Amino acid sequence: MTDIRYILNKLCDESDLTREEIITLLENRDPEIQTELAKNASAVARKHYGNKIFVRGLIEFTNYCRNDCYYCGIRCGNKNAERYRLSKDEIVECASYGYDLGFRTIVLQGGEDMFYTDDMMVDIIKSVKKEHTDCAVTLSIGEKSYESYKAFFDAGADRYLLRHETADPGHYAKLHPSNLSSENRKQCLYNLKKIGFQTGAGFMVGSPYQTLENIADDLLFLKKLDPEMIGIGPFIPHKDTVFADEKAGGLDLTLYLLSIIRLMLPTVLLPATTALGTIDPRGRELGILAGTNVVMPNLSPVGVRKKYALYDNKICTGEEAAECMNCLKNRISNIGYEIVADRGDNIKYKNMKEGK
Ligand code: SAH
Repeated sequence: MTDIRYILNKLCDESDLTREEIITLLENRDPEIQTELAKNASAVARKHYGNKIFVRGLIEFTNYCRNDCYYCGIRCGNKNAERYRLSKDEIVECASYGYDLGFRTIVLQGGEDMFYTDDMMVDIIKSVKKEHTDCAVTLSIGEKSYESYKAFFDAGADRYLLRHETADPGHYAKLHPSNLSSENRKQCLYNLKKIGFQTGAGFMVGSPYQTLENIADDLLFLKKLDPEMIGIGPFIPHKDTVFADEKAGGLDLTLYLLSIIRLMLPTVLLPATTALGTIDPRGRELGILAGTNVVMPNLSPVGVRKKYALYDNKICTGEEAAECMNCLKNRISNIGYEIVADRGDNIKYKNMKEGK
């Protein structure tokens, strides 16, 4: 127990732990430590971001994907997936609808769909930015070349989400076919950072074969990469995947890790993910109380939402975005936080850009 106290204090004071210390912290997870971590983590989030929760309007614009990731419902090998693509006009319309609801960040996410050439993406990014100059655009469209990422950035895209999925190449190979590598994924993240994107990495909690050592390495990788955003959420099985019969990641472990991440990277933008809200009805609220400061409601047209099924039983696939926003506003104000209409940039990144 003295060991754990020492580790907790060190994490709070120095935002840094050794691999062994992280593993000890993970092995000794109990409700008391969890509560203490959450208390400290939410205080750190409040110190940097107050009681503000940033919202991102998520437009899932295509579920075509050339990859066959074993965990993902929209993998190319899933012949049961009903595929769809949104046109440029539909995407821009969706973004404008989101803008009117108060969103100041639009996230364009999709499978790796070669239908959308770089030129098309550049055109889409420019159109959204032109209509809404005070809105940030985040992309989440997978692994691309340095040149493609640079073209998106030059077109005005502000942020890019690309979870590293797992930092361990051996574990990576158990979750992906052999044409995909942990090395390339990490290189993409370094490229994104170099280009100047606010960059997001992350992983699934409780993915098949994941060990506590893997998680420790994920946390160390994140600390080293120092991304502006981190997305973690529980793995949830999808019925048409290799991992259909695997069990989902746990709520408590996810919350525990969210608090550790907040303490290790104090200014990071950290969402309470939809997957967290899916495994527990209060998942997102508990995520905020554990130190997260972002939520990403769905802005996709209701007609396509159910088709963007990365995992089973995803929440909020039936409601209009306006309903989701109202529901979230209430939930969040009930726990003492407030959704704001703000771009919600990473504070460290913003200060650096402004030369502070
Ligand atoms: N094609 C993009 C977007 C992928 S989907 C890309 O490659 O980055 C976004 C994230 O959803 C993935 O990075 C993965 O971590 C997560 N995800 C996929 N399948 C999941 C599942 N079954 N359970 C939980 N999260 C999942």
